[in-house]
Amino acid sequence: MTEDGGVSDGAREHLAADTDTAVEGDSSLTVAVIGAGAVGTTAAYALARAGADVTLYDRGSVASGASGRAAGICYDAFADSLEATLAAESIERFRALSGEETFPFVECPYVWFAREGDDDRIDAVRRQVRRMQENGVVVLEVDGSALGERFPSLRTDDIAVAGIAGAAGYTDPARYTDCMAAAATGAGARLEAETDVAVRTTPPRVVLENGAGREFDAVLVAAGARTKRLLADAGVSIAMKPYRVQALIGSGDFEEPMWYDATDECYARPHLDGLLAGNGAEHREADPARYDRDADPEFAATLETRIRHRLPDVELGLERAWAGLCTATPDRDPLVGRLREGVYVATGFQGHGFMRAPAIGERIAREISGGSGIDAYDPTRFAGDEEFDVTEGTTLTFEE
Ligand SMILES: Cc1cc2nc3c(=O)[nH]c(=O)nc-3n(C[C@H](O)[C@H](O)[C@H](O)COP(=O)(O)OP(=O)(O)OC[C@H]3O[C@@H](n4cnc5c(N)ncnc54)[C@H](O)[C@@H]3O)c2cc1C
Repeated sequence: MTEDGGVSDGAREHLAADTDTAVEGDSSLTVAVIGAGAVGTTAAYALARAGADVTLYDRGSVASGASGRAAGICYDAFADSLEATLAAESIERFRALSGEETFPFVECPYVWFAREGDDDRIDAVRRQVRRMQENGVVVLEVDGSALGERFPSLRTDDIAVAGIAGAAGYTDPARYTDCMAAAATGAGARLEAETDVAVRTTPPRVVLENGAGREFDAVLVAAGARTKRLLADAGVSIAMKPYRVQALIGSGDFEEPMWYDATDECYARPHLDGLLAGNGAEHREADPARYDRDADPEFAATLETRIRHRLPDVELGLERAWAGLCTATPDRDPLVGRLREGVYVATGFQGHGFMRAPAIGERIAREISGGSGIDAYDPTRFAGDEEFDVTEGTTLTFEE
């Protein structure tokens, strides 16, 4: 990347070598992408490479939504085969596109575990590992002592069972998103940052704050937590609720693994400054226009106690903590695809939107270009007025 946010020559070469996943399509399409997060920028890049005339809008700067606040944990350890496929494809993309000139991707195993006595979660971890293995995901089930031998930094005497996934790593989500935005503009897309827009559906149209409007062949709403309100103002209801989550960065020496404690509902991964950690979600709908972007005063203290328990040798010191919004759906699967003629949506990622952004951004670009979409994520599978509870994506589910 260059200082003005463009693509450096090195990065351009790196990206030019990336021909594997080019989307084929109708090169005369005009497309508006609303939201320069990880999903919107990836889709804009894929569409621009396919020859579409793309305008990418963001009410703030690139990565000013959840993508700039995410932990950047990536893995393919999903029990559902479609999720695992999309996540594995995405990891391949992170590996292929990462580099000094673009963004980092650090290979690092991911482990998740349940504690002694937590029988429901112990069963859930075992069932998940079995299903992943049946689906061809490379994961291993181990007990606490084997986990401790493999990862001496982790306290494991209270762990009953763990899964270890090898196809995993972490990145800097803001840098990935910046890189995709720069790649999109490099491929001919126009970036309209600091431009808060509204959507109209018949015909597909984007309306600026000054009332000026522009028609497009297709409008993709990838506006993160604000997607629901944006579409509601256009008369389209979607079954999605934003919810608040928190994370922190602390000093301390810690190299591997990335881990999720399913009993305690908290996670950590190595970070340039030490470690990055987070915990469970607020199980209620948040208002994207009003939510508190700062972490709660008690959040860091509580999480630090849990991290010290799990990583007893790490000298932990709090650097900073923050909050951001994720998006939930009734069945915890995303809403990705066509809502109306020329109107598309990509949201509802249950806290796993960044790690699947490369594959999801490309799939939605393909659908907009006239190809097939992801049937299971068809946003019209819900009427939009469903009652449902917010449950976080990392929480283990106990059903088969
Ligand atoms: C603390 C935290 C940790 C997380 N950790 C992980 C993780 O480790 N791994 C993972 O996979 N996921 C993680 N997530 C979830 C992840 O951040 C999201 O799923 C993902 O970033 C969603 O990307 P997006 O492009 O859909 O949305 P966003 O990144 O939210 O982008 C939407 C964009 O739309 C813009 N916008 C909104 N309204 C308008 C409008 N009216 N006009 C123009 N622009 C508009 C916003 O400014 C924003 O930039 C985490 C989230 C948080 C908050």
